[in-house]
Amino acid sequence: MKRKIYSNMLYIAFVSILFTGALFLVVTYNRYMDQMKENVQTEASYLMQSLNEDENQNLENYHRISGTRITLINIDGTVKFDSSEPAKSLPNHGNRPEFRQAVEAGIGENTRISDTLNKQTYYYALKLDSGKVLRFAVETQTIYKQIMDIIPITLLMAGFVLVLSFFLSRVLTERIVEPINKIDLEHPEDERYYDELAPLLGRIHKQNIAIEDKVKELKQRQLEFSAITSNMSEGFLVLNKDLVVLTCNESALNIFNIKKEQCENHNIMAISRSKCMRKSIEYAVNQIPFEETMKLHGRRYMILTNPVLDEGKLRGIVVLLVDVTEKKKREALRQEFSANVSHELKTPLTTISGYAELIQAGIVKPEDIAGFSGKIHKEALRMIDMIDDIIKISKLDENELDLERTEIDLYQLIQEIQESLRMKARKQQVQLNVIGTPTKIEGIKQVLYDMFYNLMGNGIKYNNPGGKVVVTVSKMNGISTVIVEDNGIGIPNEDQSRVFERFYRVDKSHSSERKGTGLGLSIVKHAAKLHHAKIDLDSTVGKGTKFTVSFYPVKSE
Ligand code: ADP
Repeated sequence: MKRKIYSNMLYIAFVSILFTGALFLVVTYNRYMDQMKENVQTEASYLMQSLNEDENQNLENYHRISGTRITLINIDGTVKFDSSEPAKSLPNHGNRPEFRQAVEAGIGENTRISDTLNKQTYYYALKLDSGKVLRFAVETQTIYKQIMDIIPITLLMAGFVLVLSFFLSRVLTERIVEPINKIDLEHPEDERYYDELAPLLGRIHKQNIAIEDKVKELKQRQLEFSAITSNMSEGFLVLNKDLVVLTCNESALNIFNIKKEQCENHNIMAISRSKCMRKSIEYAVNQIPFEETMKLHGRRYMILTNPVLDEGKLRGIVVLLVDVTEKKKREALRQEFSANVSHELKTPLTTISGYAELIQAGIVKPEDIAGFSGKIHKEALRMIDMIDDIIKISKLDENELDLERTEIDLYQLIQEIQESLRMKARKQQVQLNVIGTPTKIEGIKQVLYDMFYNLMGNGIKYNNPGGKVVVTVSKMNGISTVIVEDNGIGIPNEDQSRVFERFYRVDKSHSSERKGTGLGLSIVKHAAKLHHAKIDLDSTVGKGTKFTVSFYPVKSE
């Protein structure tokens, strides 16, 4: 704008100077011409008067003084006297326009190229009283010369004015532009310097308000977006079409184990070069959604890439990383569990089928049939126990239990279990004692029942005749604790970390005597997890085993 105003000003100045110069020269020329004509006319009229009084004067003398060419023409056009050429050598001047005019009107004038001198000449003719015509001739060339003489000074002046214009244009441009530069576009409504700018500033003001509203809305959306993505456990990344990360959430940074500045504004390929990531991005670039599991830092993630399209063109890519490590582990466990279940069920079934086959074949003596049937019955009962446990553990696995939590008094619950285990304890000649005070927790009754039934049952089962099981229920510092302690056979150190595994039994031959399924402690572990409880195991072979279950207060379960 500054440039434009400046150049326009210069242009105007230049044209004005040129025009003024030319006008000045034309006016000066005309002025000179008029001056010259006036002089000639005055001179001529003086001489005319003089000649009217005495025509026989020496015109040569007069010419010498004035320097003007003087011609005296007779009435017939013949030249009587001429100050430049001998009169006789000159042709008849009867047809000269100034002569004819003078004859007719007393005065005549004409400007033309002189036949005699071949130069642009001004002629002025006056008729004398005698009828002769006195003619003055002046070359106009001298005026051109005078004009030419003043051209350099004119140009010099024009140059000076031009330089001045340069300077003034610059100063004026600055002055015009300065207030515009100083306009506060944040508050254009307060600007009053140029009235002409008011409509424009008004529009800017309106635009400012609209932009402000838009920015507020965008910020709000950004906040909502950040709140959603930052609370996501899944890794979330948004890439532009050049695969540069525009935004990523905390989980994504944790998954890639990098800092925010190493992620945002970096190409995704610089962040993860894994084959799976490359493949998923390739798919997304080709506008195909992609889904696959990939390994990263020892964990498994489901990577989901989705192209973001606008009018059929790729605008960006959304990448979602879901941690499926636990899911995969559970899947593997389930597979292993199914295999184990089949294996474990096969043993009693083989036994049952073996005994039944013997009876069917008539090999068994009639008096032994009762014993054989008893064995079949025991194995069948073991299978039922096992299936019961399998159902329980599957339900715990799938979270299919009716998970309604109620207030439960652990002491009362343990006493109920003690009651149902009374027979079993008596049979094993084991004393089962419960001590403590009412201790209430929030929990799932059936799950807690199974948990302590298994622990107390094990205390009886893995004990010696005459042994005892003591269950203590207490509460301290908000922590409810149940200790199940027996003085039975104990668990070897090397097995202690594994007894909670499914189907794990310390010594299979030894345990099978005691008819375990290997699922009891597994159920205990699950149940504890459901109640955010901690289990501690302390056992010495030959001395006994102590299970401590601690329930921590949970604000919202
Ligand atoms: P099971 O049905 O065989 O009892 P559990 O999962 O309850 O299965 O126990 C796993 C193994 O841990 C048992 O086979 C047993 O060897 C050992 N065990 C569990 N409780 C005790 C205990 N109180 N005393 C000694 N050994 C125990």
